[in-house]
Amino acid sequence: MSKEWYEESPEEFADGFTEERPQEKDLEKTYGPAAPFSEHKRGERIRYVSADGKRRSGEIIWAQAATGDIGVKYVVAPDDPNGFLDFVVPGDVLQVEDVTQEEALVRCPYCNQMHQANQVEACPLKPRG
Ligand SMILES: [Zn+2]
Repeated sequence: MSKEWYEESPEEFADGFTEERPQEKDLEKTYGPAAPFSEHKRGERIRYVSADGKRRSGEIIWAQAATGDIGVKYVVAPDDPNGFLDFVVPGDVLQVEDVTQEEALVRCPYCNQMHQANQVEACPLKPRG
């Protein structure tokens, strides 16, 4: 019997990710020194436009310090488990206003309240089975 979405704890959900997560010194070796100042920090979740022009969301695993002409870049692990790491410049991080437009509220047919459009199918009042 499969679990309902709300029965899965965040810890369980994170399990698959945490074990493989590289250590800080490995990250520094791979991506260079961490940016001393950046708008977004490690561990923060952002929405952004990837190099291939797609809108994605993911977690920042490293903020690369600026070197010479190259500015700060975020190394982002996308939510898509099959995705590769993305290198995101601050200009490609979507601001909250951009996201709000995309996730406009709609009236939910199950509970008659307003939800984000992509949350309707997760409505607790949606009949199951
Ligand atoms: Zn609802």
